[in-house]
Amino acid sequence: MLFGTLVFAGVMEGRRALVNSIARERIEILFGLAERNASSEPGLALSYITIIEKMRSHYKIGLPLRIKNRICKGCSTVLMPGLNCTAKVASSKGYVIYKCKRCGAERHLRYKNMKSTQK
Ligand SMILES: [Zn+2]
Repeated sequence: MLFGTLVFAGVMEGRRALVNSIARERIEILFGLAERNASSEPGLALSYITIIEKMRSHYKIGLPLRIKNRICKGCSTVLMPGLNCTAKVASSKGYVIYKCKRCGAERHLRYKNMKSTQK
């Protein structure tokens, strides 16, 4: 009985890993589409980001930093420097500031290693 339960738990864990990997792949595809449509159809790009947010919360998976850093915290717009956000380098602090032109929310993208700043 215990062995059967362990096998079942292992199968379910494998299934969850498969489902999560498919969800991550779909999130990558949706983000690519959102990036492509950000300038021509911002409403469509926003709906792709809404789907990404729903998938992230449904499957309880984290977004890759590459994608997470490109989505505005305030209005869920795809941040594209020069198009809908400004990029400013704060070299003394070691990060780049993306400021959304739509809602004004800022995102700080660290480019310096944490260990090198703790000297
Ligand atoms: Zn925004």
